[in-house]
Amino acid sequence: MDSILALMTLEEKLGQLNQPGGPGADTGPAQRAGSEEDVRAGRIGSFLGVHGAANTRSLQRIAVEESRLGIPLLFAYDVIHGFRTIFPVPLAEAASFDPEAVERASRIAAIEASADGITWTYAPMVDIARDPRWGRVVEGAGEDPYLGSVMAAARVRGFQGDDLSADNTILATAKHFVAYGAAEGGRDYDAADVSERTLREIYLPPFHAAVEAGVGSVMGAFNEVAGTPMHAHDGLIDGLLREEWGWDGILVSDYTGIMELLNHRVAADSAEAGALALRAGVDVDMISRIYLRHGAALVADGRVDEGIIDDAVRRVLRAKYDLGLFDDPYRYADPARTDSLTLRPEFVQHARDLARKSIVLLKNEPVNGSPLLPLRKDLGTIAVIGTLAADSVSALGSWAGAGRPRDAVPILDGIRQAVSPGTEVLYAPGAPVEEIDRSGFEEALRIARAADVVVLVVGEDREMSAEARNRSDLGLPGVQQELVEAVHATGTPVVTVLTNGRPLAIPWLAENAQALVEAWYLGIQMGPAVADVLFGDYNPAGRLPVTFPRATGQVPIYYNHKSTGRPPTEDRYTSKYIDVHWTPQYPFGYGLSYTTFAYGAPRLSARSIEAGDSIVVTVDVTNTGPREGDEVVQLYVRDDVASITPAVRRLRGFRRITLRPGETRTVSFTLHPRDLAFWNAAMRLVVEPGSFTVMVGGNSQDVQQVQFQVTGPVFELGP
Ligand code: BGC
Repeated sequence: MDSILALMTLEEKLGQLNQPGGPGADTGPAQRAGSEEDVRAGRIGSFLGVHGAANTRSLQRIAVEESRLGIPLLFAYDVIHGFRTIFPVPLAEAASFDPEAVERASRIAAIEASADGITWTYAPMVDIARDPRWGRVVEGAGEDPYLGSVMAAARVRGFQGDDLSADNTILATAKHFVAYGAAEGGRDYDAADVSERTLREIYLPPFHAAVEAGVGSVMGAFNEVAGTPMHAHDGLIDGLLREEWGWDGILVSDYTGIMELLNHRVAADSAEAGALALRAGVDVDMISRIYLRHGAALVADGRVDEGIIDDAVRRVLRAKYDLGLFDDPYRYADPARTDSLTLRPEFVQHARDLARKSIVLLKNEPVNGSPLLPLRKDLGTIAVIGTLAADSVSALGSWAGAGRPRDAVPILDGIRQAVSPGTEVLYAPGAPVEEIDRSGFEEALRIARAADVVVLVVGEDREMSAEARNRSDLGLPGVQQELVEAVHATGTPVVTVLTNGRPLAIPWLAENAQALVEAWYLGIQMGPAVADVLFGDYNPAGRLPVTFPRATGQVPIYYNHKSTGRPPTEDRYTSKYIDVHWTPQYPFGYGLSYTTFAYGAPRLSARSIEAGDSIVVTVDVTNTGPREGDEVVQLYVRDDVASITPAVRRLRGFRRITLRPGETRTVSFTLHPRDLAFWNAAMRLVVEPGSFTVMVGGNSQDVQQVQFQVTGPVFELGP
C-alpha cells in the first residue's frame, strides 16, 4: 500500500476518497455525477450506483489504463435484500429466525451483484429500530440487539464469503453508524439523544457483531448523537470503532452526509465540514465532493494533517487489494458471468424458501369447527381482494437492487397457480392503498359474497415503508380498514394477509380476524410463498422481530424494556396508559403454526456457577399437533438484581427446529459470560454475582422459568 501511496499526489489521494454517483444514484439531493474525465484525472476512487458488466468494465479500463497510476475503481451499490433475485426485505428475513438461510440469500446477492460489476454493497443495514413510525424499520432486523447481531454477522459472511478476492464476493458495509433508528419521533434523519449506556446495550451490538465477522466497511449515519453529528463524531468513529474495537476498514459517509454538517450547524462552510469529517475518521466522501474540493487547502493551512488523508487512502487501497482488483481489475465485470449467474433456478428456489420461512401466522381461529387455515385447494371459488394482492412492485420491497417487477409473482398469481383446476379465483382491488376512494367496494363485496372464502390483502405499499417514509399513524392507511370491516360483514370466511414493512396497529383485525397472516414484502417469490402457507404446503413458523402495538401512541414499545419502580398492573399508580392496555398486541418473538408445541421444564447444568463461568440450559420441545412443523425455541435471560437497572428480559439464544408429529427434541443453549454481562456504572462489561432467571419458550411472553445463582467476585470481560 505504502509503495503506491508514496507515488501519489495529494490530489490523487483525495481522488481515492471521492465517491460520486453514477446516473440514477439519487437517494438524496441530485449532485453532479462523476465523469470519464474525472476518472482519467484520478479524481474518483469509487462510484455509487454504477453497475452492469459493460459499464463498469469501460470505466475500469479508463482508470487502469488511462489514469496516471492506474488504480482500479470500486463500484458501490445498495444490494440490500437481493440484486436480481430479490429476497424478503431484511425485517422479514429476520422473522425467519434462520441465520443460515439469510446468509445464503446474501451469498446469492453477492454472486449476482459481483457478476454485474459491483464490488461493494451498502448492506447489511444493522440499525436497531424501536420506533416503527420510522420508515427504515423495514431495512433492519427489528428491535432486538441479539437477533440483530446474529443477522448482521450472517449477512456479512454471506456477502464477503471466506475470501474477498474471489470473483463472487463483495465488500459489505454495516450501516448506519450509529443510533440512526433512534431518530426522535421516528422522523428519519432527526436527532438521536441516546446515552452511552443505550448505545452500548442496544445500538452498538450489531455493529460489533459485523466487525467481529470481518466487515470491510461501515457507513456513517445522517443523525447526530447527543449533540454531535455522526459525520463529525471522532469519539465514536476514531475512538470507539477504530481504537476500542480495533477495526480498520473503510468508513464511508452516507449520501451528502459530510455536506449536511452545514445543515446541522456545526460547520460554517464546506471546508470546515470536510475538516470535521476527515478528523473524525470518515474516509470516503459519498456525493458531497467536499474532500476533493477542499482537501488540499485544508492540508495546506494545517487544519487537517496529511497523515489523516494517508490513513484513509490506505484503507481504500487495501480494500481494492483485498478484493483482488490489483491482480485483475476486471474480475467483477464479465458479461458472460452476468447471464449465467442471474436468477438461477436454485436462487429463485431459495427466494421462495426464505419467503415462506419469513411469514408469520398471527391468528387462526376455528370456522365451522376447524381452523380456517390451511385452505383446501379445491374450494369452488376464492375471492382475492386488495390492490396489494396484485402489486408486484410492492412484492419486491423497499431496496430492490436491480430487481424487476416482471420477475416478481404477486399474491394473486401465486394463488392462481396453486389452486386445483376446477377452482375459480375472482379478483377485485377493493380500495387503493392510501387514497380515500370507496368506488371499488361494491365489486369487492360482490365477489366476497359469491366466494367460499376471501383472501383479503391489505397493508402498505412499498413506498410507505422505506427511507424518508415515516408515518405518524400505524393503522391501515386509506379506507382499507373500512374495506376490511365490510368484507368481514359479508359472512364469508376471510383470511387477511398483511403486507407491510413495519409493525402495524391493527386492533380490529387482532380481535375480529378469523385468520391473520403477516407477509411483509417477500421478494420475487412472494406469491408462491404466500400460497404455500395458505394452502398448507408449508407450515408457517416465522416469528415477529418487532413488537406490534395496540395503538400508535404506545410507541416506543419493545420487549426488552427496563425494570421500572412501578411495573404495570391494574393499580392506578403504575406505568401504563389509561386508554389502552399496557401489553402489546403481539409480542416480540410471536408466531403460530398449524401444529402445536409443548415445552418441558428447562433444566440447568448447575444451580450455581462462578462469575466468569458458563452454564447450559436444556429443554425438551415436543410437537403435540397433527403436522410436521418448525418451532423457534427462544431463550431469554434476566439479571434479577444488578447495580444498573436490568432489562426485564433479553434474548440470548434461539434455535429454529423441525419436528414431526409426536417428536420430541432436546435443545441446549450455553450461556457464556457475555450473555450474562452488562455495562456497569463505570462502563465496564461485567457479570455480577446474584440470581439470574432463564426463560424458555416460543415467544418473549409465553415462557417457562428457572433460576440459578452466580457467585464469587464480579467478573470483568476483556476488551
Ligand atoms: C441511504 C443509504 C444508502 C445511500 C446510497 C442514503 O440515502 O441512507 O442507506 O446506502 O443513500 O444509496
